[in-house]
Amino acid sequence: MTELAIHGGKPVRDKLLPYGHQWIDEQDIAAVVEALKSDFLTQGPQIARFEQKVADYAGVRYGVAFANGTAALHGACFAAGIQPGDEAITTPITFAATSNAVIYQGGTPVFADIDPTTYLLDVAKAEKAITSRTKAILPVDYSGQPVDMEAFRALARRHNLVFIQDAAHSLGASEGQVKAGHVADMTMFSFHPVKPVTTGEGGIIVTDSRDYYEKLLLFRSHGITRDPARLTRNEGPWYYEMQYLGYNYRMTDIQAALGNSQLDKLDTFIAKRNRLADYYLQKLAVLESQGLLVLPHLRQNVRSGWHLFVIRLGLERLKAGRREVFEALQKENIGVNVHYIPVHLHPYYVEKYGDRRGLCPVAEAVYEGIITLPLYPLMEEQDVDDVIAALEKILNYYKK
Ligand SMILES: *Cc1c(COP(=O)(O)O)cnc(C)c1O
Repeated sequence: MTELAIHGGKPVRDKLLPYGHQWIDEQDIAAVVEALKSDFLTQGPQIARFEQKVADYAGVRYGVAFANGTAALHGACFAAGIQPGDEAITTPITFAATSNAVIYQGGTPVFADIDPTTYLLDVAKAEKAITSRTKAILPVDYSGQPVDMEAFRALARRHNLVFIQDAAHSLGASEGQVKAGHVADMTMFSFHPVKPVTTGEGGIIVTDSRDYYEKLLLFRSHGITRDPARLTRNEGPWYYEMQYLGYNYRMTDIQAALGNSQLDKLDTFIAKRNRLADYYLQKLAVLESQGLLVLPHLRQNVRSGWHLFVIRLGLERLKAGRREVFEALQKENIGVNVHYIPVHLHPYYVEKYGDRRGLCPVAEAVYEGIITLPLYPLMEEQDVDDVIAALEKILNYYKK
């Protein structure tokens, strides 16, 4: 057996393979240059086009672009009417921005546990967490796999909750013919460079509701309106009104131009991610059959966006923990990552809400074993082969 790089052996790769990377081509660059030469650097025609394109893609009426996905989630929590005293249910296996958005509005995030096979928020456990104070539910399309959108919609209707889907990972994913973003009251997509398509920084809320749409527009721009139909009075042609405490959460036209160009490639990106994920699944089946790892599991009829390829180590079959395996992979120049540290275990959350280790036992146990492997559309099968070679070398070395 070849020596592990962590023990001084030759690494599987000479150069680091990152876990994610954007795909920017000449068409994208030309689109940005054109926007720079235009009359508008912010809130020009590219924004409106971008909002319409994403809304059309999801099959809903409205889109409101934001400076980033976190700001978009904040906007959704505002539009949902979350206030101090309100609760909103979400998953602990997410980026902290999901639950932070609830706190920005003065609300309390309530964490319900995940499903042990898909790592998605468990619908039944979410329902158990509902109280008279619950205002909204924010499931996350973890790794690019859409949550059971119909089940969450039904749950939200039964309990009069606003259903906000964190689809930061899942633009382009679907269940049957239904795209992520089509079902929830409001759906957030992120355009950070590692996400399905990028605008540098950026986010959007898509919705079918005129009421949410108008609130989101105000919230994004200081709570200010010039719309004659919305003004409470009119003092003259200069007159505008600030009606809510909003923010400057606007996206630039430069970013939207990039986004419009990127959206033309979205389906190609998703198809490539699916091909690479299938290749991983096929090649890693042997290690799974030996109990050394558990492969990602999709719900029936789901086409994932494959934002992340997450394996779970079979720790009971290994002499080493996740940390040793992770560090050994890094030394082989495989850019691994961990998504995510359960949010309720972060020091800010512990200080604010107390030490709640044990609150979500499934999520906490899953966290102990998960590793995100590199996956992005610019990768080739040879890159996947390298990741697999490194994993085989390391797991066989640490096998009990
Ligand atoms: C990336 C991400 C966000 C935040 O999006 P930004 O555009 O980075 O602000 C929120 N939730 C999840 C699950 C994410 O992955």
